[in-house]
Amino acid sequence: MPISEVIDRARSQGRAVLTEVESKQVLHDAGIPVAMAEVASTAVDAIAVADRLGYPVVLKILSPDIAHKSDAGGVKVGPNSAQEVQDAFAEIMAAVKSRQPDARIEGVAVQKMAATGTEVIIGMSKDPQFGPVMMFGLGGIFVEVLKDVAFRIVPLEPRDAREMIREIKGFPVLEGVRGQDPADLEALEGLILKVSEFVEAHPEIEELDLNPVFAYKDGVIAVDARIVVGS
Ligand code: ADP
Ligand code: MG
Repeated sequence: MPISEVIDRARSQGRAVLTEVESKQVLHDAGIPVAMAEVASTAVDAIAVADRLGYPVVLKILSPDIAHKSDAGGVKVGPNSAQEVQDAFAEIMAAVKSRQPDARIEGVAVQKMAATGTEVIIGMSKDPQFGPVMMFGLGGIFVEVLKDVAFRIVPLEPRDAREMIREIKGFPVLEGVRGQDPADLEALEGLILKVSEFVEAHPEIEELDLNPVFAYKDGVIAVDARIVVGS
């Protein structure tokens, strides 16, 4: 489904936030590397999707009322068989119902489990003065506690992407520390530029978050995605 239709459908349902499945689909169509996710409304559906994608997989709650899926008990990483998918589905539903009993639930998003990489965050938000602004940082405590992030105004030039990556204090982590693999900086630069082009081409996008992106020695992949559109 083209992005315009995905957005129209969300709006007609009174939603400004695209689901993870919708967000990843439109990003994938724009050539941005994501762990594609499929909707499964029952455990049986989830197993069918997992069988098709291949194990291990990740299951995540799909609800228009839940933004922080892990906090709601809504993420299971690594189910490695049909039985484990069935158990994970039941555990997610039980956890979410006890923590957010009023949330509307559409099922789960099923996706392949990606190998662990260095977690980074790429985002776009709109500044009242400057318009769309791209953000880059390392994941986890680096962004949440240390606010170690870099910003650039859209549209970005290649050197903006290069500089953003290098100006965060955590940059040495991306160069590889304590025997950890260095991150593929060229692929990260390419990803930042692609996202900048994507939001420039779609001014109806108000906010975009890839949190996290896994960066590897070779390549990068966004494993969570969230897009907010204007009304
Ligand atoms: P939320 O941010 O809403 O809590 P995420 O989709 O970011 O949920 O998932 C939580 C964590 O699970 C991620 O930070 C990541 O470490 C891990 N994760 C999510 N999707 C995948 C995936 N496809 N492969 C491997 N790990 C994943
Ligand atoms: Mg996330």
